Amino acid sequence: MQCESRLTLDTSAAEYVIDVANVVREPALGGERAADLARFEGLLDALAAFTRDPSVQVYAITDRSLLTDGRLTPQERERLREWYAAGLLEVLPRADDRILELADALAVRVVSADNFLDFHRAYPWIPGSRDRFLRPFLGEDGVIGVRPRIMPVPPEWQVSRKEEEGLLLEAGVLRRWAPTAHRAVLSREWRCPEPGCPLFGAGDRPGTALPRRRKDRVLCPTHGLDLVDAGPRPRRAQVKVVMDGTVRGRFMVTADVPLAVGRAPGEGGVALGAWVEDRAVESVSRTHVVLSYDGSVLWVLDERSANGTRVRRVRPAGDELVPLHHGVVWHLRTGDAVVLHDRLELLPSGRRFVFEEDGAEAASAPPAPAAAGPTMVDVRFDGFDD
Ligand SMILES: [Zn+2]
Repeated sequence: MQCESRLTLDTSAAEYVIDVANVVREPALGGERAADLARFEGLLDALAAFTRDPSVQVYAITDRSLLTDGRLTPQERERLREWYAAGLLEVLPRADDRILELADALAVRVVSADNFLDFHRAYPWIPGSRDRFLRPFLGEDGVIGVRPRIMPVPPEWQVSRKEEEGLLLEAGVLRRWAPTAHRAVLSREWRCPEPGCPLFGAGDRPGTALPRRRKDRVLCPTHGLDLVDAGPRPRRAQVKVVMDGTVRGRFMVTADVPLAVGRAPGEGGVALGAWVEDRAVESVSRTHVVLSYDGSVLWVLDERSANGTRVRRVRPAGDELVPLHHGVVWHLRTGDAVVLHDRLELLPSGRRFVFEEDGAEAASAPPAPAAAGPTMVDVRFDGFDD
């Protein structure tokens, strides 16, 4: 698959954030050259394999210096410039903590080998995090892979085990992240005063990237100029079409616009045959379910499908399948999937800010870091997650 199809600066669609320069300039990811764009492409392939999603959506950012890096070939530099011009790559004077700003605002996962030790105070959800970071590595077969990593806890946090556990609890669970701080910015459309700005341009391409926030200012990440508020942005939730456990397609549900999904739902609806050519689709009704989104919660309704709908709920003791009765509107929670057929499901994106009200539930869940007990005290910074 073309790597361009995996790049997005759409804040409602992105699921991972990657600092391209870091990857391209990492010799440990293979190849002879000091900088090699193939490392980034290899990482996208790895992410697609890891997520079982050939079109996994990545928010890619880079330092501006990469676009003129003489260690890349002219073709590679040209390709980066094309991505930037097409609004597929965010270019900043310095990427520094931008990757964390994105992770914080969008609740996307970070693919990086960096420990981000300098940013643990600013982003208290980092130390001890078990589900927000992936590490790229070079496999013995010479192919790049990714694996989940547990973030280290800085020594100054380890004053005493008791206090540390409290901090971990606070950092890892209670103060996971604060989408509310970013909600105001994400709920508006923004325009950059710089003519032809690929991130926040005018006309038919409204800005879907994440503006930078500096105190009370809202800035273009590339040009550093104050962005102009261009009105409310419709909120959208992403839903994936999953067949036999593999993501086959994705679509958006816009707030306050109910969306019919099925075999042939007609004008404006989502026809599953666009992604899935399989007999499973034949058992799906023309309009099987209607999804609606109110800006924070996604709902599903099966009015009269022939073969019915179930909701798969992820439970610690194992998945639970709940039949959805005709005419009942179901409030989908994080991890819930809409089962249209044994092999065919609709899975709302795991993006947390879509399900903001679930935060309280997550906070009351048993904290994962505490469960690790004393081992957390002996954390070393190198190789901790290997
Ligand atoms: Zn701009």
